[in-house]
Amino acid sequence: MKEILFLEPVFKSMIWGGNKLATDFGYTIPSDHTGECWAISAHKNGDCTIKNGTYEGKHLSDLWENHKELFGNAPGEVFPLLIKIIDAKNDLSIQVHPDDAYAKEHENGSLGKTECWYILDCEEDGNIVIGHNAKDKEELKAMIGDRRWTDLIKLRPIQKGDFFQIEPGTVHAIKGGTVILETQQSSDVTYRLYDYDRLDNGKPRELHIEKSIDVIGCPHVDVLASGKLDKTGDCEVQELIRCGFYTVKKIDLHGEQEFIQDQLFLNVSVIDGTGEIDGISIKKGDHFILPSGYGTYRLEGTMNLIVSHL
Ligand code: ZN
Repeated sequence: MKEILFLEPVFKSMIWGGNKLATDFGYTIPSDHTGECWAISAHKNGDCTIKNGTYEGKHLSDLWENHKELFGNAPGEVFPLLIKIIDAKNDLSIQVHPDDAYAKEHENGSLGKTECWYILDCEEDGNIVIGHNAKDKEELKAMIGDRRWTDLIKLRPIQKGDFFQIEPGTVHAIKGGTVILETQQSSDVTYRLYDYDRLDNGKPRELHIEKSIDVIGCPHVDVLASGKLDKTGDCEVQELIRCGFYTVKKIDLHGEQEFIQDQLFLNVSVIDGTGEIDGISIKKGDHFILPSGYGTYRLEGTMNLIVSHL
């Protein structure tokens, strides 16, 4: 039987981070302003190691390069997805990501970034920035030039369990008090449009106004989540999104259920509860990959999971 690949996350301190990755998820974090847990990642800026079995201690990037069979010989030079948990104690900068074509040309062949957010936790009157109000590039440039940030950005209310797809070219920002599970293309290219004039070690963080204006889509168009729901026995599976880069689903389990892993590989994150996969204990905060050809697997327990595949 094929082995499950359990991953050791990589943590990132950020000026906007907090300590919920320790208090809510039980991780050992490097500081009380830890913003990101790179939970399933082979990106060079945060390459997870395997925690168990034959490949214990190896980096995920190493397996992608030397054991492509684990990923069904999926195409691509780099492991294409990146799963993060983000703890935003304070607001993240207002930002935008390029698409593959723009990133390839302007960012040394990097991938662009399509990302999506599942809201794990937020404040009662929490909100988030997605989109902008400029009707065309001219108006966008004028509003940015005049620093009319409040008029420009689209602020929208959020609740626990909401889901948003963020296409490249979408102005966005996670606001303080929000914890998110993010599924994204494996890319670390962010153009910062506005950072609330904050200082980091006495200096404002770099902005990327020209590149932002280049890539921001005008006018903004919302992408709707899929919302397809399958109910069987003790289990509910909701498809959150299916796009050109990934499919993301949420599994709510109360009891037991058998599934088939027939994708090239399947990323799994336990976002709440405890249980078992094929007799192995798993709990909130665990992240693992079911490799190619894993076949049937049985989940047991009371758990919510987010799974993703190509
Ligand atoms: Zn982003």
